[in-house]
Amino acid sequence: MIVLVINAGSSSVKFTLFNMSDGKKVLAQGLIERIGIEGTSMKYSNHKGGKFEQKVQVANPTDAVKEITRNLVSPEYGVLGSLSEINAIGHRIVHGMEKISKPVLLTKEAKEIVRECFSLSPLHNPHNLAGIEACEAVLPGVPNVGVFDTAFHATMPDYAYLYGIDYKWYEKDFIRRYGFHGTSHEYVSRAAASFLGKPYESLRIITCHLGNGASVTAIKDGKCQDTSMGLTPLEGLIMGTRSGDLDPAVVLHIMTLTGKNPKEMDVLLNKESGVLGIGGIGSSDLRDIEEAAGKGNKRCEVALKMFAYRVRKYIGAYIAVLSGLDVLVFTAGAGENSSTLRASVLAGLDELGLTVDPKRNDPRSSEIRQISTDAGRVKVLVVPTNEELAIADLTTGLLKG
Ligand code: AMP
Repeated sequence: MIVLVINAGSSSVKFTLFNMSDGKKVLAQGLIERIGIEGTSMKYSNHKGGKFEQKVQVANPTDAVKEITRNLVSPEYGVLGSLSEINAIGHRIVHGMEKISKPVLLTKEAKEIVRECFSLSPLHNPHNLAGIEACEAVLPGVPNVGVFDTAFHATMPDYAYLYGIDYKWYEKDFIRRYGFHGTSHEYVSRAAASFLGKPYESLRIITCHLGNGASVTAIKDGKCQDTSMGLTPLEGLIMGTRSGDLDPAVVLHIMTLTGKNPKEMDVLLNKESGVLGIGGIGSSDLRDIEEAAGKGNKRCEVALKMFAYRVRKYIGAYIAVLSGLDVLVFTAGAGENSSTLRASVLAGLDELGLTVDPKRNDPRSSEIRQISTDAGRVKVLVVPTNEELAIADLTTGLLKG
């Protein structure tokens, strides 16, 4: 079964083509960036070692899908004899509100739900829908499946997802916590259980997805109990450019001080805050922040401490939510690659059963691995996430019934 995974964003379309029948092999992958703006370019690589990076004429998502599929069958870089070999397309979709809690075939009704979520996810869902419609136009007759970032969190209990504001806001305007990165949290938690050879449903797991966007999820009996992101991805951890949790009065106070409107506040909190705003070196990349801190930059030092401290606070809270813990997972860019961050998050938590073994934590690896001591009660694992593969798996699973 050949599955094309599409992640359509505001100005980019990412793609991965899998042969699910041949060891889930990646046949080709890449992205088109800066769609509709100056300097549109495409990166492409295939399993035969062919690759290129070049400027392309792409003005919209349909052009992007045309350009991607043209390359998938081109004499020079192609990996398919014909586009009719593509059996299914899996789409990453950010928001499904309470209406979608599992992968779905993107029928007219399902697409209507994606559209209904525009107001809650204005930066993502419209582009996700444009990606679906582009695939329908370029690859007619191929089934499109939607995999939703919010879906895994649909099992959160009401006392975890409601905000402490008048209930009418939930009833009328659907204002509640939804959570994001669900595909990644589910993928790495399931991978952790199978790595440990334990039934997924028997474990209490905390997953820390620490990338440019970052969130922590508490999982029990195979179900999400709570997660750190909320109505939008702004809530929770301090991230690359997002503030994470704030006293809402901070927002009101800055608006009063500066006269900024909601749109400007959105930019301030989502794009200019987090370690970017605290570190003050013009970078949101933790590698740059770690390097500057290493050279004695005090603001970068505190940015790193704040990042790790917030993760630690959520871990502590979620151990209480789960009434204990069996497995802690680190994943995503920083979670997978920064041993100093992991060590700093877990320093001195031996009494909670969390004991990191530096000999296991320090070496770099792209493999799933245990970094806790064998004596530690909680297994601490690093599990590389692979959202594209998770989407391809879920797409295949749905279509095979
Ligand atoms: P992601 O969003 O999962 O692609 O993660 C990207 C982020 O991971 C980057 O912006 C960095 O902040 C972080 N990252 C990646 N590699 C490292 C590393 N070796 N050390 C620290 N942070 C890293």
